Amino acid sequence: MFKSILIDKIDSQYKVELCDADESTLPEGEVVVDIQYSSLNYKDALAITGKSPVVRRFPMIPGIDFAGTVASSSNPDFDAGMPVVLNGWGVGEVHMGGLSQKARVNGDWLVPLPEAFDAKQAMAIGTAGYTAMLCVLELENHGVTPDKGDILVTGAAGGVGSVAVSILSKLGYRVIALTGRPEESDYVTGLGAAEIINRSELSEPGKPLAKERWAGVVDVVGSHVLANACAGTQYGGVVTACGLAGGMDFPATVAPFILRGVTLVGVDSVMCPKPKRLEAWERLGQDLDLSKLGSIAHEIGLSEAIDTAQDLLDGKVRGRVIVDVNR
Ligand code: NDP
Repeated sequence: MFKSILIDKIDSQYKVELCDADESTLPEGEVVVDIQYSSLNYKDALAITGKSPVVRRFPMIPGIDFAGTVASSSNPDFDAGMPVVLNGWGVGEVHMGGLSQKARVNGDWLVPLPEAFDAKQAMAIGTAGYTAMLCVLELENHGVTPDKGDILVTGAAGGVGSVAVSILSKLGYRVIALTGRPEESDYVTGLGAAEIINRSELSEPGKPLAKERWAGVVDVVGSHVLANACAGTQYGGVVTACGLAGGMDFPATVAPFILRGVTLVGVDSVMCPKPKRLEAWERLGQDLDLSKLGSIAHEIGLSEAIDTAQDLLDGKVRGRVIVDVNR
């Protein structure tokens, strides 16, 4: 038997509880993993609270990521005892997820845990941090180097934002951090932001084009913030969009794209092809100052994940939440 969080929907009633389960409840798969740590991402919080239809099959163990060791495997690439990490692929949405002491998954979905990290550090980074790295890779791929100008990071005190600020500052970019929590200014500055601006500056409907303030953007917010971030991007700049914390809409005009040659790049971590994942994890090992993870992430036990989910959606959680599934 092992412990997991289980979401069920019976007669339209959404139910979430900590349960004892056995391996027969896990789906078919080549690799059984003894999970050490999972984490609480924005999507997990949506799944646990039922605020958005993230879970598409019931009953479901939430948790879009985990790190642990292989318990048994019929996949030749994975042997018992191997440390692994998983992000996405519908795990925690349509396939039993990581907020559990065990998982059974397709071997193709697993990435060997990079040597730079232990399981806890990998989940301090988690899907949010790996997505932040995917955004940074897109800025680089589109030619945004530190000499081109500043980078705006939105939702800077959250999970994706915190890791993005840390990586970009270590790479030598000057980071402008947007946050709705002025009380977290010292935290965001400590991660490497050179300038803090208040969320209210970008959260209201704005002009099609604004003063050119940044060469690149990592946006986790969407809606007016994304529209204003595009409007303030300098000629030839690049905006990476990965989130919807402020809304799924995009009330913008084409002006930044057709008059300033701005590029809008969508970033998805869930179905991201494996070579890009491997690159992102390798680069996290090089370009993230691991000593910052102590201030970015805090740890909770499995049962606490249910209550913490609402706090995360209420914007009360700073940085990242690691979940020790064995306590
Ligand atoms: P967090 O909750 O940790 O951070 C989100 C941050 O956004 C908050 O901390 C807050 O930052 C800001 N924010 C929250 N609500 C609003 C609002 N109404 N208006 C403006 N800003 C707001 O979540 P994550 O960092 O883990 O995820 C961020 C987004 O990225 C989510 O939408 C998530 O779904 C998405 N995501 C997408 C992925 C992909 O594959 N595309 C992968 C991972 C995440 P502050 O307090 O500093 O203002």
